[in-house]
Order: sequence, then structure tokens, then C-alpha cells
Amino acid sequence: MIKSFYPPLRTLMGPGPSDVHPRVLEALARPTVGHLDPAFQQLMEEIKLGLRYAFKTENSLTYPVSAPGSAGMETCFANLVAPGTEVVVCRNGAFGGRMQENVVRAGGKAIMVDFEWGTAIDPNQVEDALKANPNASVLAFVHAETSTGVKADAATLADLARKYDCLTIMDCVTSLGGSELELDKWGIDAAYSGSQKCLSAPPGLSPVSFSSRAAEFVKSRETKVQSWFLDLSLVMDYWDGTGGRTYHHTAPVNALYGLHEALVILSEEGIDNAWARHEKMHTALVAGLGAMGLEMLVNPEDRLNQLNTVKVPDGVDEAAVRTHALKHFNLEIGAGLGSLAGKVWRIGLMGHAAKRENITLCMAALSSALAEQQVKVDLNASYDAVMQKLQ
Ligand code: PLP
Repeated sequence: MIKSFYPPLRTLMGPGPSDVHPRVLEALARPTVGHLDPAFQQLMEEIKLGLRYAFKTENSLTYPVSAPGSAGMETCFANLVAPGTEVVVCRNGAFGGRMQENVVRAGGKAIMVDFEWGTAIDPNQVEDALKANPNASVLAFVHAETSTGVKADAATLADLARKYDCLTIMDCVTSLGGSELELDKWGIDAAYSGSQKCLSAPPGLSPVSFSSRAAEFVKSRETKVQSWFLDLSLVMDYWDGTGGRTYHHTAPVNALYGLHEALVILSEEGIDNAWARHEKMHTALVAGLGAMGLEMLVNPEDRLNQLNTVKVPDGVDEAAVRTHALKHFNLEIGAGLGSLAGKVWRIGLMGHAAKRENITLCMAALSSALAEQQVKVDLNASYDAVMQKLQ
């Protein structure tokens, strides 16, 4: 006989999900209504407004896909990549690799531009690839590479895409709400994100946004989008609302209450203030880690504020550190992925989790975990360094 599940109370400072705001948790528990109920339709309209605010866009085609970030990714690729479409894909981490898979599965040709994990995308190399492949019609890149903690120069990459007459697809799963993101100013055509990172809602929804250029492309396609569920022209009959809503799928009603509340919280704080808070917390975290003698993987100018990759010192058992933090501090920090497995920790400062008490908790947990392995660090110096940055 199974019993009710009560999860342990963790602090989530890994690569996501992040801590869910208590107001979001409370919103999730409100009574379920029908997904075509007039009251729910009002909420849908507000979610679209809130997402446009978060993405900094006027795109009317902005809505949450009813599935996690990977489904937002597939929505972008399935709709904008027709059989034979050539796509230049930048890969400097795990998620660029997934883009390649998406292109191939949609029947397109992926032209890969590779960079070492932990380094930024070099626009010159991207331009070389665009020049060498004049039939390419899409440029795809990850704005915030969660596997490495590197950010991309999205404005420059989007300019390049326009110069070579390409649409842009940008992964902003980890950047939405956490660092500067300007869809319209930069001229991004298709973007996808996730609810569980800097928006601090639970995993399971993927906000997406499409420019009118992208919408035109989808309309003019000669072949059907290979996925029925993700076909924009079909799902918009439900999300658009201007011509009366029709059933497409049963929307995850309560999950959308949660996303709505997360967007209310973001608008109360102000998007620019949310970005500034992430930056301030990142600066404090890095100062504290430095005072402990720990080094960052990524160059300062390419670092993400919301995902910090920290090198594991020689001789330290990295998994044992994470286990210690979880067991004794209820603190989750992330492991390295792919070629960085065993070499780094990934410390998230995302959304509601980007706050001072989490930083000091993290310092205490790391110092205690390292002491268990006979590595002595100066916790007081670390606290002092953090506090100096937080004044
Ligand atoms: N893209 C990036 C950059 C991510 O960090 C993630 C998840 O961590 C995804 C895509 C996939 O999102 P999800 O796990 O919600 O499907």
C-alpha cells in the first residue's frame, strides 16, 4: 500500500529546477477549472502578457508549450525546419548538441560550428560557416549554456543571422528572467525557455515566442510540421483566442496557475531588477568561492550569473561533496555534464534561489564537505568576501 509523498525540504542550487516561490506553490493548489472556462481564458491572456514582458517582445505568438523546455526546443525546430532546411548550429555544450538532433529529426541538415566546452561562441567562426553555406536559412544557438555556465552574445549572433538572411532560434531556457534578454531589440525569431529555472515555477512548461517572420515561414511551408502536438498553426487555435478558442489538448490548468503567479512576481520585482539581483548574487558567490580558494571554469566576461561552474580541486571527490551538501545541509548543487563530468560543480542562482541566505548556506556546505576530505578552507574569509559584495 503506497502512502502520501512528502518530499524533503531542499534548497535547490543546481542547474534546475530552482526553488519554487511559496506564492507559486500556493497558486498550484487552487481549485482546478475547465481549460475552456471563461475565467481560465482570462488567465491565459494574462500569461501571454506576462511572457511578452519577460521575453521583452511584442510577438503575439508567445505562449507556454504544455511540456518541459525540451518540448519548446522541439516546437521551434519542428516548425522552422522543413525537410532539407540547412541550419547552422553553434555547439559549445550539451544543449547545442540537442539542437543538432532536433534538426536531423525534422529532416534538416545541421551544419555544426563547434567550440570547446566552457568557452563562448566566437561570432567570427559562425560568420565563416554562414558564408560557406549560402543555402542555410536558420542559425541556432544557446543563449545560456546550462552545461557549462557560458553566455552567448545573442545580439551579435542575431545580427549575423539577418545579414545572411537566416531566421534565428535561441535557447533561453536558463536565461529567461535571470539575465538580459531582449527578443525584439536583438531581432530573435524563435525562442524557447523553461518554467523551472529563473522563473521559479515547477518544471513542465516551456514558454516560446515567434516573430512575424517566423510565423510567415510556418504559414508558407509546403510540408506539414511533422509533429501534430507541436504544430504552431494548430496549437494557436487554442492559445490565440481572437477567433474563439477551440480544443487542442487539455491544458495543464494548475501548472499554468503556477506560471501565472511566477510572472506576477516577476512583474512586481521588475525584470531589470531581477537581472540585477542575479548579477549581485553571482558576484557575491564568486567572491566567496574565491576566498575559499576555489576557481571558476569560465572567463569572467563570458560567465552566466545564474549558473556558476566551479572547478573541483585536484584530489577532491566531487560526488562526495554533493552528497555531503545534500545529506547535512539539504542543499542540492549540480554535477558536471559530458566532458565536464567529475571536473566541475554547477551552482545555480536561479530565480527565487538567487538570494543571500542561499549563498552563505552554500559556503557553509562546501567548507564542511571539503573539511570531510581533509581540505581546509577559510570559511570566515569566504563569508567576509560575500558580505562585502552584498552591502
Ligand atoms: N536547454 C537548456 C539550456 C537547458 O538547461 C535545459 C534543461 O536543463 C533544456 C534545454 C531542456 O529543458 P527541460 O529539461 O525542461 O526539458
